[in-house]
Amino acid sequence: MVIRFCPTCKGILILGKEKAVCHSCGFVQYSKVVLSSNEKLPEKEEIGEGAVKGENVFATYEHKCKNCGYDKAQVIDCGIFYSDEDNLIFLKCGKCGTSERVGDKAL
Ligand SMILES: [Zn+2]
Ligand SMILES: [Zn+2]
Repeated sequence: MVIRFCPTCKGILILGKEKAVCHSCGFVQYSKVVLSSNEKLPEKEEIGEGAVKGENVFATYEHKCKNCGYDKAQVIDCGIFYSDEDNLIFLKCGKCGTSERVGDKAL
């Protein structure tokens, strides 16, 4: 058993689980274990939830669907796949999913 002495009054420290207390002068010495355990672990971030329900979150371009009349569409640019030709751009309705081909000039 380790006996520790109070640095203030040289009395004997009463060792507890989390701290050592001098009953003579009231000096309190916290153990290192307690100090390190007080550091909070970073909370896990929630990823990927909450974005997928209902409407297409990528449908941000204002375009009225000729099929259902919904006024937001997702812009799908296929230009990199057909680099020799004009850019292929589709507007995909955010509600019914109907795709319409448009020219790049329309954007
Ligand atoms: Zn003391
Ligand atoms: Zn539509």
